[in-house]
Amino acid sequence: MSERPGRPRAGTVVPDGPVGVSLVGSTGSIGRQAVEVIQAEPDRYRVVALAASHSVDALAAQARALHPEIVVVAEASLGPLLAATVPPGTEVACGPEALVAVARLGDVVVNGVVGFAGLSATLAALESGRRLALANKESLIAGAPVVQRARATPGAEIIPVDSEHCALHQCLRAGHVPDEVARLVLTASGGPFRGRSRTELAGVGVDEALAHPTWQMGPKITVDSSTLMNKGLEVIEAHELFGVDYDKVTVVIHPQSVVHSMVEFVDGATMAQMSMPDMRLPISYALGYPNRGTRAFGAIDWATLGRLDFELPDRDVFGCLALAEEAGRAGGVAPAWLNAANEVAVAAFLGGAISWTTIVEVVADTLQACEQVPVESVEDVIEADRRGRERAGQAVTMRGRAA
Ligand code: MG
Repeated sequence: MSERPGRPRAGTVVPDGPVGVSLVGSTGSIGRQAVEVIQAEPDRYRVVALAASHSVDALAAQARALHPEIVVVAEASLGPLLAATVPPGTEVACGPEALVAVARLGDVVVNGVVGFAGLSATLAALESGRRLALANKESLIAGAPVVQRARATPGAEIIPVDSEHCALHQCLRAGHVPDEVARLVLTASGGPFRGRSRTELAGVGVDEALAHPTWQMGPKITVDSSTLMNKGLEVIEAHELFGVDYDKVTVVIHPQSVVHSMVEFVDGATMAQMSMPDMRLPISYALGYPNRGTRAFGAIDWATLGRLDFELPDRDVFGCLALAEEAGRAGGVAPAWLNAANEVAVAAFLGGAISWTTIVEVVADTLQACEQVPVESVEDVIEADRRGRERAGQAVTMRGRAA
């Protein structure tokens, strides 16, 4: 078995007692579903820490149900309110540093923070030699050079919570050598706008972009799914996680979201991981690896499943896919600029400042202005993110509705 990063490895240490879980971003979509997984197997998992950005009421309710050792709210002004509502005996801390400190606790750290803001938690978990159940793909994509270094820390490993990469991880654990992999096939639902032309998409609203046909997710990733930027980011994520060349990563549209991704081997065989769309399965896999969860999530009912369709993506209409692939191949700071531009553009779209079709234009403008500089430190990544955001902000102003 290869020691290349991301290949499932033998000999992963399984703790004797319940697995201690630290949930960073516990009140978001991934965090709440992680709580469901943990509550489904109470003898197997114990929550040691909970952290969220600002949702104090939800955080306090989770603390009452799960009895963690520490609860953190990143928004420092909300600390006193949180302290007044958690059960006695629970430690309370506040501020961004406290949130990062939580990512150094427990056996497994779930990073369910949304966007680039998750970088410091990703680094803290890996640098402290922990398993990272990674739902925050943006930190790996934008911060790849420093995240890969942190990943080399003894004991550190990333188990992807992203459903596609979790599927690939499962297909790759079957004891082959790296040269036997012909390509990784990432599936994409196609989002709510699959099959539409550019003209038809000119006036689509936020509500339409947020109406995902198969997955219930947070607003940022749902908009990313509608533009296929999510799949573009996932191509970079797959490259970084599994060390596979971009030439060997293919995207296929699969509207039913039952085949979560596939690995094609050099002899022509393709292995797929299938289950109904349910994020609790990848969460359960990442928490329990190398063991399987004992509670089923998303098991298939073959009597009602019906047909499974596959088609190639429309790269002209969904230009974000090609932009992401381009940034991934360029490497260096380009993925950080891409991600920053996309976060700015999506926020501007959700806020009504730009149209849906302008998202790709903002990202293209920003990438065009990207200047490659060496990435040696976290500060370099943060600076690339800052510059990307600055340039994207200018593009939003130039191309925005008010312009
Ligand atoms: Mg995904």
